[in-house]
Amino acid sequence: MSKVGKKVITRFPPSPTGGLHVGGARTALFNYLFTKQTNGEMYLRFEDTDKERSKKEYEKDITDALEWLGIDYHGPFRQSERTALYKRHIEDMIKKDYAYISKEEEGASDSVIRFKNPNKVVLFEDIVRGTIEVDTTDLGDFVIAKNINEPLYHLAVVVDDHDMGVTHVIRGEDHISNTPRQILIQEAIGAERPIYAHIPMILGPDKSKLSKRHGAKSTIEYKDDGFLAEAMINYLALLGWNPGDDREYLSRDELINSFNLEKAQKGGAVFDLEKLKWLNKEHLLKLPGEDFEDGVSLHITEDIKKLPQYSKERLFKVIPLIRERIHTFKDVEKMAQEGELEYFFEKPDYHAESLMWKDEESIENTKKHLEHVSLVLSGIPEEDFFNPVVKKAIWEYAESNGKGNVLWPMRYALSGVSRSPDPLTLAEVLGKVETIARLNDAIAKI
Ligand code: GLU
Repeated sequence: MSKVGKKVITRFPPSPTGGLHVGGARTALFNYLFTKQTNGEMYLRFEDTDKERSKKEYEKDITDALEWLGIDYHGPFRQSERTALYKRHIEDMIKKDYAYISKEEEGASDSVIRFKNPNKVVLFEDIVRGTIEVDTTDLGDFVIAKNINEPLYHLAVVVDDHDMGVTHVIRGEDHISNTPRQILIQEAIGAERPIYAHIPMILGPDKSKLSKRHGAKSTIEYKDDGFLAEAMINYLALLGWNPGDDREYLSRDELINSFNLEKAQKGGAVFDLEKLKWLNKEHLLKLPGEDFEDGVSLHITEDIKKLPQYSKERLFKVIPLIRERIHTFKDVEKMAQEGELEYFFEKPDYHAESLMWKDEESIENTKKHLEHVSLVLSGIPEEDFFNPVVKKAIWEYAESNGKGNVLWPMRYALSGVSRSPDPLTLAEVLGKVETIARLNDAIAKI
């Protein structure tokens, strides 16, 4: 309920002439957050009066994205299915002399329907931008329909908002200039004026309106890129709004509870992919274990799954290491491509010299250290083969012989690469049998 006790009705009315870009998603989200907070209802309405450019595939792109983001709605409704309603209003407006059929050229058969502009000053309150005053004289007698059966945007939007009982119109600032025309039509058809909130544009890094040119994608593509819906709505909510304190990570419930249109900013909001990635990582770090495992499993590549030692159990042991490294689930694929995952699932291949730490005097010493490590680790029961136990078993020896001299060859023997987690962590992930096997392989190589 709103403050005055009337049920809040909002609407999200995209034209399905393209997919849902992030600007549209942000508008849908602001409507959603406001609607949830006030226990209202949001209508999804496809403004598909442009028959040539409106496509079902775009409708699907839009509803897929809304579903992914968890933005629920009433509908969808389609303007193309509501022509009888517009026709009634157009006829009524003509009858009451609010509109007229106008021959566009002397003697021409082409005609349009124009609104009879009362030429007055329209004043409206905008939640974000305050009082806005416009003299409508300059707008002339604007066109509201191509003919009785083909309404144009201003007419259809006013009739629909009225018919659906819309109480709040929350939309992009680019629609401010449309508002005076729509208010005039509302007054003509006797519709109640909704409360307006025009939210700032989303800008690219060069401060011009965000577009494909800036690499902006369709919202659903961020899903394919491995972003979490919860991170995406968190990020979109911060484009033009903030909770008024220093919080940046906000869960869905926190967003719903703290959202406040009055705190929306007036200036444009710059879309920053790095910040989205950062927020995604924050959400990934807090994701429940099972959900994280599911995300990783979806992005682990076939090349990794084909490796001889690949198993779900081994993968689950690697998962905490993956969680530290990635910003999106897509990064799991990148880790695989860059060879950061292979050695967990197959014996490494390398030259014996690589086992030697830079300060070590001889390869024989390296061999001796590996033999010692292999021997003491053999004494640990398999079920106790955890990082701290492994550490305890070798630490004193490593300290007295030089940590690099002992730990480097151990790590190299286990991973075969110079950048990998520390050898204790690797030992725990690989387990006792595989750790000893890889250490002995290294000894044999020398
Ligand atoms: N169909 C319009 C658009 O796609 C929205 C109109 C409105 O919110 O009033 O921008």
